[in-house]
Amino acid sequence: MTHENTSFDVIVIGGGHAGCEAAAAAARLGARTLLLTHKLETIGEMSCNPAIGGLGKGHLVREIDALDGVMGRVADAAGIQFRLLNRSKGPAVRGPRAQSDRKLYRQAMQAALAAQANLTIVAAAVEDLILSSPVYGGSGRANGAVEGGGPLSQAAPDSSPVNGGAVCGVTTADGREFRAPRIVLTTGTFLKGVIHIGDKRIPAGRHGEAPAIGLSDRLYATGFAMGRLKTGTPARLQSSSIDWDSLEKQYADDEPSPFSFLTDKITNRQVACGVTYTTAETHKIIEQSLSKSAVYSGAISGRGPRYCPSIEDKVVRFADKNAHQIFLEPEGLDDDTVYPNGISTSLPEDVQEQFIRTIPGLEHVVIKRHAYAIEYDYVDPRELLPTLETKRIAGLYLAGQINGTTGYEEAAAQGLIAGLNAARAAGGGAPFEITRAEGYIGVMIDDLVTRGVTEPYRMFTSRAEYRLSLRADNADQRLTPKGIELGCVGAERARKFADKMREIEAARALAKSLQLTPAQAEARGLKVNQDGQRRDALQLLAYPSISYDQLGAIWPELVSLSRQAREQLEIDAMYSGYLDRQALDVAAFKRDEDLRLDPALDYASVGGLSNEVREKLSRAKPVTLGQASRIEGVTPGALTALLAHVKREQRKRA
Ligand code: FAD
Repeated sequence: MTHENTSFDVIVIGGGHAGCEAAAAAARLGARTLLLTHKLETIGEMSCNPAIGGLGKGHLVREIDALDGVMGRVADAAGIQFRLLNRSKGPAVRGPRAQSDRKLYRQAMQAALAAQANLTIVAAAVEDLILSSPVYGGSGRANGAVEGGGPLSQAAPDSSPVNGGAVCGVTTADGREFRAPRIVLTTGTFLKGVIHIGDKRIPAGRHGEAPAIGLSDRLYATGFAMGRLKTGTPARLQSSSIDWDSLEKQYADDEPSPFSFLTDKITNRQVACGVTYTTAETHKIIEQSLSKSAVYSGAISGRGPRYCPSIEDKVVRFADKNAHQIFLEPEGLDDDTVYPNGISTSLPEDVQEQFIRTIPGLEHVVIKRHAYAIEYDYVDPRELLPTLETKRIAGLYLAGQINGTTGYEEAAAQGLIAGLNAARAAGGGAPFEITRAEGYIGVMIDDLVTRGVTEPYRMFTSRAEYRLSLRADNADQRLTPKGIELGCVGAERARKFADKMREIEAARALAKSLQLTPAQAEARGLKVNQDGQRRDALQLLAYPSISYDQLGAIWPELVSLSRQAREQLEIDAMYSGYLDRQALDVAAFKRDEDLRLDPALDYASVGGLSNEVREKLSRAKPVTLGQASRIEGVTPGALTALLAHVKREQRKRA
């Protein structure tokens, strides 16, 4: 007879994108980690579109990879159509994206976790949290909970614990108990999930899977501020019933750009997807059926993702547009299923059948599974510290869609940070944080914990202040050294990174050593200012009229540099002036970020604050002066008063 081990350093609940990343990260740091999830076979499941990356999201994947997370490598193993978005624009806003083979993605994720040391995986439905000093909230709708659903609209939750308390384990639906002082909850859309198709309502976490009720009840009862959000997924189509020949095609890049800094080559066959458009007839059917849509009939109160609207939303909001683009994306290399990207809906099945067949190429399409919308509970992320530990229950971390975000990449990035911090804390280590100046991960987490969400949060490059330095191409240069110091980066990546940096430094030194006077440049056909100044190859390359190939014709040693070294020189040259200026902004940001605020600071004792600001700061309990400055309504005057108070206290203590 075997005895199941029931005691761990870290327990992660949920085998989705956040959970996989959290479990792998905690185990990489050496914590004895348990991943508890409903079904082993759905680990790494892509609930909606079979694609990873894109603008902003691709940056997140590269950052996860830079810290030796799993998503980048798994997406490379499963990618069947790689495209670098915004290729014609500057490197700062280019976003790697790949359509994935859904099955290959799951398999690669499951293999990555199976190979991870210190990680145990058990299939179980977690029913409740075990708290060391149980919190009984009475009504179950304590602070900030929104009765009857709907997005949160009230002020930030009061972060003072209802009863304090710490988490120390979980119980499962089949009566087992597992213990750990650190628990990461990543339940995605499962908390009190309800699927809507027309007027049908089906309690579910996603298609065919039961929702998580007990955990949601526990969070409400503990006093967490919670609300309802919604998202949706389109119907799935049978590929062989689509008239592909009549459709425009979108092809993969000739040279795929992998996500992972460890991937040298993409080996999967690359496929094209089809492009089609809705028609006037499609819009007419949708308009006539609006009252049957769960969203428009009032059956759903949660707010959905603004940037990923349902087709009925698009028809209503952009009534002047007579066609909406749809990408027909194959779900796998040996899968007859197609994902029609752009037509998610909560209309009834018969209306779906009607409107889909008015779309060119889909006149005779067979629908394998109908579209649906799903509504679920989320926790106001202002309940969290930047480590993603809740302020309310010590040892409990939340990551992924449960925090009001949408998307696999956003979920995975949070999972990584929560997993690393849970493991650090279990071992008595200091918190691990990424600031807004260091990565998109930092931007997202700061946005979430400081400002909260009013609709599902997704990443965009425009959310980052320092985008010129936070590029997808340099995620490793920004974060891998941090990961090495933390201990979450493996030997292979550390070696590869060191080799790469040696190569880049040598290329930079070479470029600086190759110089021309203005007269020499002129003689070689390069137009520069005739100011008597010698210019090196990098300075010459900074001129928009001078190309790398022109310099290569002058100095053949530049031609023999590797592609990565050459790209780095081009980027260095392109951004040279701007990056210096941005460095000053980053230094000012860092000064405020380095000024830590005492979590127990009594804002009532800070002179010069209005009552409104005092209340906001008391509720949010910012951890740095920088975070305080980003809380809505906190004025420059209030910050000066706060800074003066902190300095006065420091002097007194000294
Ligand atoms: P999930 O991937 O949902 O994983 C949750 C995991 O937790 C699952 O493995 C589940 O089995 C497990 N679990 C839950 N409760 C328990 C429990 N009590 N015990 C044990 N295990 C548990 N994102 C986009 O970017 N664009 C979209 O268009 C989009 N549309 C979507 C449409 C639908 C219908 C759904 C369901 C999701 C959609 N998403 C979309 C969101 C995307 O799927 C999620 O953002 C992402 O999967 C969130 O990852 P996660 O790890 O937080 O949760």
